[in-house]
Amino acid sequence: MTAGEAIIEATTTEQRRAALEAIAAEVRVCTRCKLAQGRTNAVPGEGNPDTEVMFVGEGPGQTEDAQGRPFVGRAGELLVRLLASIGWRRQEVFITNIVKCRPPGNRDPEPDEIAACAPYLQRQLEVLDPAVVVTLGRFSMGHFRPGERITQIHGTHAPAPESTGARDALAYALFHPAAALRSPEVERQSFDDIASLPRVLTEARNRRAGVRGVASATADTADAPALPTDLLSTQTTTTDLGDDAPTLF
Ligand code: URA
Ligand code: SF4
Repeated sequence: MTAGEAIIEATTTEQRRAALEAIAAEVRVCTRCKLAQGRTNAVPGEGNPDTEVMFVGEGPGQTEDAQGRPFVGRAGELLVRLLASIGWRRQEVFITNIVKCRPPGNRDPEPDEIAACAPYLQRQLEVLDPAVVVTLGRFSMGHFRPGERITQIHGTHAPAPESTGARDALAYALFHPAAALRSPEVERQSFDDIASLPRVLTEARNRRAGVRGVASATADTADAPALPTDLLSTQTTTTDLGDDAPTLF
């Protein structure tokens, strides 16, 4: 283990929360790309600093730009329903985007904007060290599964490139919820695909335990460490944050 790894693994919830807030504070005043000009609010991302799963969308839409929070419009409602279908809640994961500011008229983010914004996502990944990165849509998939086609790889996982900031993580590809809103077939596929996510999390935990040379966290669930938010437990978590009480970053 390198010194860097030791430092990452020694971080506490409060240190991760503070690191995420520091990144968010930079994002809110960022002018590194032309998307700064048209935004109302930058949308850094939000969620549980102890989570093992990070969802990465494309970029804020109109509602997100107005509120400064990710996935709070119609696509967000569908994302919440998708999560609920596997017994998860948005407060238990971390949700962010490839670009943190809204592209005008919801156009696609451009390569220079994605590149300018990538260091923020990289730092969020380094702080959270998620076991699974769930990509939502083509642009997020393109970052974590370069050279692939969403229609072919949705519902599959592959190791995330370490150059993204993710370490020993699996990238799991989903369609974008906005695409599911436009097509009942894509919506059906999205529910099918997310149903495998708990199994992918188990696989990702076992894989990184192997890579990192520590005992598997899931070989025997009775011996599994008590995680702050155990996304594989069927029970609800002890602290009920309520749907309107997000941890903001
Ligand atoms: N679509 C996205 O890609 N991200 C959001 O935050 C909202 C809608
Ligand atoms: Fe900065 Fe990213 Fe917003 Fe561009 S999209 S201004 S790089 S925070």
